Amino acid sequence: MTVKAYGAHAADKPLEPIAIERREPGPHDVRIDILFCGVCHSDLHTVRSEWGGTIYPCVPGHEIVGRVSAVGGSVDKFAVGEIVGVGCLVDSCQHCASCGEGLEQYCENGFTGTYGGATPDAPGHTLGGYSEQIVASDKFVLKIRHPEEQLAAVAPLLCAGITTWSPLRHWNAGPGKKVGIVGIGGLGHMGVKLAHALGAHTVAFTTSESKRQDALDLGADEVVVSRNADEMAAHTGSFDFILNTVAASHDLDAFTRLLKRDGTLCVVGVPEHPHPSPAVDVLIFGRKSIAGSLIGGIAETQEMLDFCAEHGIVSEIEMIAVQDIDLAYDRMQRSDVKYRFVIDNASLAA
Ligand code: NAP
Ligand code: ZN
Repeated sequence: MTVKAYGAHAADKPLEPIAIERREPGPHDVRIDILFCGVCHSDLHTVRSEWGGTIYPCVPGHEIVGRVSAVGGSVDKFAVGEIVGVGCLVDSCQHCASCGEGLEQYCENGFTGTYGGATPDAPGHTLGGYSEQIVASDKFVLKIRHPEEQLAAVAPLLCAGITTWSPLRHWNAGPGKKVGIVGIGGLGHMGVKLAHALGAHTVAFTTSESKRQDALDLGADEVVVSRNADEMAAHTGSFDFILNTVAASHDLDAFTRLLKRDGTLCVVGVPEHPHPSPAVDVLIFGRKSIAGSLIGGIAETQEMLDFCAEHGIVSEIEMIAVQDIDLAYDRMQRSDVKYRFVIDNASLAA
């Protein structure tokens, strides 16, 4: 089926309307009419080929919420009319050790991303959620249990939510732990909400003085403006865990210094240019770790969605028409987003 989408034909070209093909649902497939799609900084990195290797045309979007409009004959988990989500993954090998443990994002044979991944479907790579419809294998479709009026604000949970939830859970953020969240953008604002909801003493680090009050409102117990050396120094040696979501190259030592003995700084931001090499003495004197984490598996994504539905957690969003996407990217580049742009996919029909 031919559907309307928005995509880019080259790194230096703006996004524009583009017609794409979606396969007919196979026996295990779910066809979804997309209602809303969040705008992740990874979409911008990819469209502009900041990481290199982007395949065009590129239709981004991996924070998808929509309504099931068809299911294959072997699908019993989902029914037509149901509200569902699709995140960053649409396939994986399903037989390696990581897939066996429900960690499809670490599939040893390579997962298929929701956009830019290899697929037999035309045009040979996957096309994401800036489109009217998507067809995905039922194993990679999530149940959405939030009330319908919150659906636009649920979309960012599919990437920003799970990418912060997974490391917070892995490193045991919870009561009695002091947890830092660096960069209060799409990922970071969800990190603050989730760390707070998990019961950790949560400290938000921002470069934007203007986000100080917002960070408290999001659930932070304390806020540090990271450009202020005295504010930073007051937290030296005190954190169990710091999650760094910053999308640009910066000095990591400023944060490893704030860790306790055996503490971990986990980076999830993937900047275009590398960070300066971290100082090893800061790590050695204190047995500290720098770690990384990639989105999350399907089971833990469902766990996060259910936790958020139960606790009334959604993203803070600014809704846009798809035609405004380049403006949204430019604002995201300037850290001027409060706190996630979400596309109203009905605007694709315009
Ligand atoms: P975003 O909404 O643009 O937020 C990034 C935040 O980082 C900004 O709002 C800003 O917060 C801070 N920041 C930006 N430039 C900075 C600089 N030069 N120095 C210090 N802080 C700066 O981006 P996002 O969608 O949250 O994504 C963040 C990063 O995570 C991106 O690189 C994205 O590709 C990556 N990502 C990774 C995964 C994964 O699985 N690992 C998944 C999704 C996204 P303040 O104003 O508070 O300083
Ligand atoms: Zn993302």
